[in-house]
Amino acid sequence: MENLHHIVVVGGGAGGLELVTRLGNKLGKKHKARISLVDAGLTHVWKPLLHEVASGSLDASANEINYRAHARKHHYEFQLGRMSGLDRSAKEIVIAAFHDDEGNEVVPERRIRYDTLVIAVGSTANDFGTPGAQEHCLFLDSLRQARRFHNLMLNAFLRK
Ligand SMILES: Cc1cc2nc3c(=O)[nH]c(=O)nc-3n(C[C@H](O)[C@H](O)[C@H](O)COP(=O)(O)OP(=O)(O)OC[C@H]3O[C@@H](n4cnc5c(N)ncnc54)[C@H](O)[C@@H]3O)c2cc1C
Repeated sequence: MENLHHIVVVGGGAGGLELVTRLGNKLGKKHKARISLVDAGLTHVWKPLLHEVASGSLDASANEINYRAHARKHHYEFQLGRMSGLDRSAKEIVIAAFHDDEGNEVVPERRIRYDTLVIAVGSTANDFGTPGAQEHCLFLDSLRQARRFHNLMLNAFLRK
């Protein structure tokens, strides 16, 4: 295990999840390489479904992929955490400390060594600095934002 080539993919979105699945099935399963996925969240929801979560026409939990279960099935490892730095000379990524909802540290900052690194962290909406956009717009880049949109919409109807 120690001598295996370690491929680390950061970001389990549309691109990263597909990649680790294929690499896991092809190389991880035959112990030809060690495959690791690092993601800031525990589950994946395909982003084109977010507007359905926001409108309430889709139950997100039924469409979520749990990384841990998926990793076990497809022969890769999953590490929960947000990449916060890169040390190219040491070939290490830095994963920020993980805190619970009360702000208590659950896992301290840590480093993961790689032989090959793929960064697939996607993108988020750009407001191009438009005045007022940050304060007044609802963005739709994550499940949390989609659920927030949904709750705000329901509350707006309830107020009527
Ligand atoms: C509302 C919406 C609707 C869309 N509809 C369509 C559509 O109809 N058709 C289409 O082709 N495309 C659509 N897209 C675009 C499509 O979803 C993206 O092009 C695609 O998801 C990009 O894939 P990705 O793997 O690059 O990144 P993403 O799918 O965004 O995944 C990035 C992953 O990286 C993780 N991550 C981010 N930063 C870090 C970090 N520092 N450390 C660890 N993990 C991190 C995130 O948690 C996430 O899991 C839509 C996008 C949105 C937001």
